[in-house]
Amino acid sequence: MVTRLFIDGAWTEGRGAAIDTIDPATEVVLESVGGADRSDVDDAVAAARQALGRADWAGLLPVDRAALLFRLADLIEAHADELAELETRDQGQPIGISRQVSVKGAADHFRYYAGWVTKLQGTTNPVSFPDTLHYTRREPVGVTALITPWNFPLMILSWKLAPALATGNTVVIKPSEVTPLTSIRLVELTREAGIPDGVVNLVTGGAEVGALLSSHMDVDHLSYTGSTHVGKLITHASADSNLKRLTLELGGKAPSVIAADADVDAAVRGNLMGSTLNSGQVCAAYTRFYVDRKREQEFVDKLAGGLAGLPLGPGLDEASVLGPLVSSKHLGHVERLVEVGRSEGAELVTGGHRADRVGYFFEPTLFAGVTDEMTIMREEIFGPVLAVTAYDDIDELDSLIARANDTEYGLAATVWTNDIATSQRLADGIKAGAVFVNMPPIPDMTAPWGGYKASGWGREMGPWALDCYTETKSVWLHYGR
Ligand code: NAD
Repeated sequence: MVTRLFIDGAWTEGRGAAIDTIDPATEVVLESVGGADRSDVDDAVAAARQALGRADWAGLLPVDRAALLFRLADLIEAHADELAELETRDQGQPIGISRQVSVKGAADHFRYYAGWVTKLQGTTNPVSFPDTLHYTRREPVGVTALITPWNFPLMILSWKLAPALATGNTVVIKPSEVTPLTSIRLVELTREAGIPDGVVNLVTGGAEVGALLSSHMDVDHLSYTGSTHVGKLITHASADSNLKRLTLELGGKAPSVIAADADVDAAVRGNLMGSTLNSGQVCAAYTRFYVDRKREQEFVDKLAGGLAGLPLGPGLDEASVLGPLVSSKHLGHVERLVEVGRSEGAELVTGGHRADRVGYFFEPTLFAGVTDEMTIMREEIFGPVLAVTAYDDIDELDSLIARANDTEYGLAATVWTNDIATSQRLADGIKAGAVFVNMPPIPDMTAPWGGYKASGWGREMGPWALDCYTETKSVWLHYGR
């Protein structure tokens, strides 16, 4: 069995059950990864707690902590090819996405937050108390648990780990059991970068291990990305244990509005990318299309043509644009929802089936004639499945906004129009953490990322992530006699 727990600077054998991680393009087991049990989780949390106050971490000058993160960014770049290939094998994403989005996104994040280490400032405040100096300082929250999903394992871990370390926390990472390999490799690189023992710990395993962290009495903060269902379980676990702080990035069901004046060819290109990147396994993926009825047929025809033409194949093949879905379980979930779409009366325009080949491939799928009540319009599918409906008049923006907002989610939305007033009215009215006008849903480390409603709590990226990983202390110093 492979030993894959990293606790207090050492790789150790997990005492829990091992889990196979599978290449979704070939269905072959890549590795058997040792899992953690309760005592492993306790050890990892204890190591993080100890490291939190140790001089080799807490006593580091900001400029030296920054240097560690710059070094880690350099190491990610130095190992870019290896990391990209590993991500593609474990997750399935096309190698170009692994290189340009996952690995580059990870390195960029560490470099960006390395820059913040020396710029974490407090404020002085004009309090209404005589002869008093009042100031704030930002302190690390403490031991923070990072639980990540399987869609962009390396990049999403970096979204969390970079600001957590930049602000002086110590962490226990729990990657998805479906795709643990690049997280394990990144942890090895943190060691090579010189990050002290105990600052970064990693436990592997599934839901039970995540649950142990979310109910742990000595974890101060937990940052989670994954399904809304599990986000709620974590919230309960926090409430029932020590009320640890939570940052939650959850599900989405992003609407895409195509106005009558839109450049339909550009809209088709942008929406193809926005809905099928990583085979649609993107929380901000465009999935619900509201098209002005005057352009509906043209849009559906061109989108169907574009989807049918996407080269499907193993991620390691440079020609593949669409890789496999991540697992046989997830393939089953997508197949089931497509079946529900059919049975509820949506018109299947293209796709609709598992591809006839080895691997968990699913054909890009388009439904037209969808109604707002249909399951495929409401539930997160997390696959290359698109649903189109029409609206009648752009002057009825209020009712269009209401339809776009008729969802429990609020992560992302997009609008395709050349009319500034239309785009602004929709951007104002749609309840989503990010609204993209005439472009695909791109995360960037300088812009906030997070959701309204059941899409989550808090914002990652930019200076907003610093709020997730710090406490603000208020210091009052009375110097009057
Ligand atoms: P998931 O919720 O099944 O798993 C995510 C992580 O949670 C895994 O590490 C898993 O082991 C762990 N987990 C499972 N049960 C747990 C429990 N009871 N307590 C604690 N941890 C537990 O999600 P997934 O299937 O890996 O990812 C897909 C979901 O993630 C989709 O809903 C997607 O929208 C969402 N997502 C959101 C964002 C975002 O930024 N908002 C980004 C990517 C993915």
